[in-house]
Amino acid sequence: MAKTPFFNIESPYPVAALVGAGPGDFGLMTIAGAKALAAAAVVIYDALANPSFLTLCDSDVELIYVGKRAREHTLTQEEINALLVKKCRDLMKNPEYEGRCVVRLKGGDPFVFGRGGEEGQVLTEAGIPFMVIPGVTAGIAGAAYAGIPVTHRDFTSTVTFITGHQREVAEGNASGAEGDDEVSEVDYDALAKLGGTLVFYMGVKNLPAITQRLLTSGMDANTPAAVVRMATHPEQQTVVGTIKTIAEAAQKANIKAPAITVIGKVVSVRDQLNWFETRPLFGQTVLVTRTRQQASEFGALLVNLGAKVIEAPTIEIVKPTDRQAALAAIRNMIDYDCVVFTSANGVLSTWQAMQALELDGRDFAAGVAAIGPATAQALESIGITPDVVAEDAIGEELASELIEYFGHNTRDDPDQDTEMNLSGTRFLLLRAEIARPALVDMLRKAHAEVDDVPVYQTRTPDSLPEQALEAIRNGTLDWITFTSASTAKNLHIILPEHLHAAVGKCKRLSIGPMTSRAMDSLGWPPTAEAHQHDIPGMVETLLSEALKAKENRAGN
Ligand code: SAH
Repeated sequence: MAKTPFFNIESPYPVAALVGAGPGDFGLMTIAGAKALAAAAVVIYDALANPSFLTLCDSDVELIYVGKRAREHTLTQEEINALLVKKCRDLMKNPEYEGRCVVRLKGGDPFVFGRGGEEGQVLTEAGIPFMVIPGVTAGIAGAAYAGIPVTHRDFTSTVTFITGHQREVAEGNASGAEGDDEVSEVDYDALAKLGGTLVFYMGVKNLPAITQRLLTSGMDANTPAAVVRMATHPEQQTVVGTIKTIAEAAQKANIKAPAITVIGKVVSVRDQLNWFETRPLFGQTVLVTRTRQQASEFGALLVNLGAKVIEAPTIEIVKPTDRQAALAAIRNMIDYDCVVFTSANGVLSTWQAMQALELDGRDFAAGVAAIGPATAQALESIGITPDVVAEDAIGEELASELIEYFGHNTRDDPDQDTEMNLSGTRFLLLRAEIARPALVDMLRKAHAEVDDVPVYQTRTPDSLPEQALEAIRNGTLDWITFTSASTAKNLHIILPEHLHAAVGKCKRLSIGPMTSRAMDSLGWPPTAEAHQHDIPGMVETLLSEALKAKENRAGN
């Protein structure tokens, strides 16, 4: 029995939490599960849980993988139980861990074919307080994401969860759950008689045997059936048939674990409810080459439309060479008539510096200008509405807008001379270390006083994430997106030379003319260029290209 538990009993978390991670989609982790992960000192996890869940943990967390991997030494269930108890005891002994917990993270729901029940029993025997945070189980989520409601008033009022086989799990395809029953131990006569909705877990290899048993037990051969693989992931794949045809169809489609099989009349509703696989970018893999932070924003838009997104940051934003000059200019911003931003990164770098200097929105210059909608949006996101925005993110255009807004006529008779003048007007440009001088030139020509101060510089990272390299190497990408000339140039630099040709084989999307020109000169001419030169414009182009492809397929 645990003696003096040091953990804080006021804390919402007992020592251990058996947490269900859901079937894979990041959004299907529960809020309680995310909170437990944030409080975790140790996470003991299995194979199927989406690895991104681990980003919810504190940076000092100890992560222990205990999933089954083929041909590798893996822990037995007894060893996992012992590890869980040991980690909990360590935590209880150590006052530093007050308020923290040990999370046992499992795919789906911990108590559905997950041996969570056994682990809970072991914790109880060891006197360790724990909580269970249920998860969205694959049998329900997988059906739902395939457009199949597990119950429906018109068809059935029962749903049965059944384990398909034990061996497949032992071979390493599923999330730490070892099935309990051999196929022969399930009462198939009873299942066939009950009908309703039957959901089989871990049953891919045994599908021919399972369906055969149902048929011999008298189930109607025309009963609809579906197999859903990698449910809720962008790679989800669904095969539909009847209990007579489904085993062969799944084999033909090369369906492997993890997959669930849904049997019953409810499968027929998929025709009307197939929402996930019909999203416009479903089935497409898109490489996003912007900075990490911006990649996630762009990526989130694409993911919502069904795409699989792989991030390949080709630009890093770092402090400018002369950081002191940048800080001094930002501190004195209020003395200028207008501060001009030529990129969202300029806005974010300035805002970070302002926070470090304990400045806020009141310390901006009287006027604020943005070179285009994306920069304007970055300003809006920090609560600043720019006075002047150039529509097209082009320096020359912003210069004319600024001249129009701040300019004044020096001649006595304005009708005689429309030459506008900016004399006496003080501009502060906060922008990247390397930038095109057109804007500054034009403002100075109009007699403005311009201080041009770099507030950040960009750097080319040394390499790409392995997942991105692998996708390029294996040719699994549909699109590579370039949001600036530098993203293209930098990809060319970072990418090992033997992979340059592979980029040439993907479809390439450019944000606009300057990026397209850079792509041309690298031998990667764009397949498409966004009509509107920003992120929403790129998303729209991907959508219309997908629509075109669909129409072509339909036409053939
Ligand atoms: N505790 C888990 C089940 C573990 S058993 C849960 O509640 O979901 C492992 C089996 O779950 C797999 O063999 C497969 O049948 C099913 N499974 C888990 N994740 C899945 C997914 N994303 N898509 C399809 N089936 C999945």
